[in-house]
Amino acid sequence: MSIDRREFIRIAGLTTFFGLGGKAAFELLTPGQLEAKMAQEAPKGTRWAMVVDMTKLDADTAKKCVAACHRIHNVPDLNNPVNPKEKVDPEDKVRWEIKWIWADHFHNAFPGFEQPYQQKLDHLPFLLLCNHCENPPCVRVCPTKATFRREDGIVMMDMHRCIGCRYCMAGCPFGARSFNWQDPRPFVKEVFPDYPTREKGVVEKCTFCVERVEKGLMPACVLESKGALLFGDLNSPKSNVRQVLQQSYSIRRKPHLGTNPQVYYIV
Ligand code: SF4
Ligand code: SF4
Repeated sequence: MSIDRREFIRIAGLTTFFGLGGKAAFELLTPGQLEAKMAQEAPKGTRWAMVVDMTKLDADTAKKCVAACHRIHNVPDLNNPVNPKEKVDPEDKVRWEIKWIWADHFHNAFPGFEQPYQQKLDHLPFLLLCNHCENPPCVRVCPTKATFRREDGIVMMDMHRCIGCRYCMAGCPFGARSFNWQDPRPFVKEVFPDYPTREKGVVEKCTFCVERVEKGLMPACVLESKGALLFGDLNSPKSNVRQVLQQSYSIRRKPHLGTNPQVYYIV
């Protein structure tokens, strides 16, 4: 382990325990810490979780993960202007954007943790997606139960129930949800026949590839990641995610909000 990384872990650990991170408190799970918690809780059933190993992920691979996800889920590519003759305000472009998974800098993904090693992390492509929180605020605020949490921890969307009120977007602290301000279908380059397209006025997001997981397949982003992304049952002591978290230092996004995210980042 390099001195820089050791120092990062030391400071992150202090921040975790003494709240030095201020408003955006930081959490560092040390090897075995999660294990101790799980042993205490002895949870039953399946709880799907993802591990993103930032020591293995490069920008090119991250791009491929995003492309694979968006291709098989018919996520529209709204980099094009809505009307090609119209000039589009860059802010509107962001507003229209639909994304299930994307890469961002460390300082955006983990705000409130400024120290020298952060600069070394900042060039890395932190892949961000729905955290499939154990205590998801989006589910609490949805008036129609269009978004709900399954027994196995996957936070789902039922497009037929969604009335487009966007309460869930306001409730999600991770910006993981996108709203279809316009019909997305003209912006899907090649429709993937095995997955439904959406329509104007509904919210969408990552589903942990539930349609694949139910068939015993890995999520598409995991398959593209060359081993940088792992997916498995956190409740099973023998699962890949559990084993790797047992041996590594990991962080999660905005743990101080109490949502209990199920995406872990190895740093
Ligand atoms: S936009 Fe749809 S999923 Fe989100 S809170 Fe409203 S009804 Fe529920
Ligand atoms: S788990 Fe599936 S839906 Fe979620 S980001 Fe990865 S590929 Fe996309």
